[in-house]
Amino acid sequence: MKTLGSEEKKFLMESIRDVPDFPKPGILFKDITTLLNNPKAYNLLMEHLSERYAGMDLDYVAGIESRGFIFGAALAAKLGIGFVPVRKRGKLPYTTIGEKYALEYGVDEIEIHIDAFNNREGARVLLIDDLIATGGTAEAAAKLIKDARAECVEACFIINLTFLNGAEKLKGLAPVYHVLEVV
Ligand code: AMP
Repeated sequence: MKTLGSEEKKFLMESIRDVPDFPKPGILFKDITTLLNNPKAYNLLMEHLSERYAGMDLDYVAGIESRGFIFGAALAAKLGIGFVPVRKRGKLPYTTIGEKYALEYGVDEIEIHIDAFNNREGARVLLIDDLIATGGTAEAAAKLIKDARAECVEACFIINLTFLNGAEKLKGLAPVYHVLEVV
């Protein structure tokens, strides 16, 4: 399976803008809009992901709101499979199942439609988001996929803030793949 070379990784990393103190002091926000409006970077990334996942016999890509939609929907279309949005509570119109997760202060919840995977037991699902930090959001999303009786084949992130050990939260739920890491 193809992995990106160090020059390609460096190019992708440099296409992402660092915004200090957003959305609050002390957070270094990784702004992927500068990757998206750079056709060479966006195309390189999507080619890499479609090459990686073409042979995995996936049925769906599930993207986490909202930046996971951008990568997930493009990837699903490239692979010729369905896309499932994992949304914040209250956004989906039909019957949903939800999973709560802890925030720094309080709790949040994400949802999918009850028939998101067309009731296909054991459907092979790739979970995707732009970035994993503490891993709480991705853990809740992987649990939702399991609750829907589908299989989370892998959880994919464009960037992993590995110093926060978020991938630990996915142990036992899904293998984790990241394109880029911040150590
Ligand atoms: P977590 O649940 O802590 O892993 O947070 C992951 C979610 O928060 C993802 O949807 C990210 O888009 C967003 N996020 C967290 N930290 C950052 C950051 N430093 N830069 C950009 N997005 C972030």
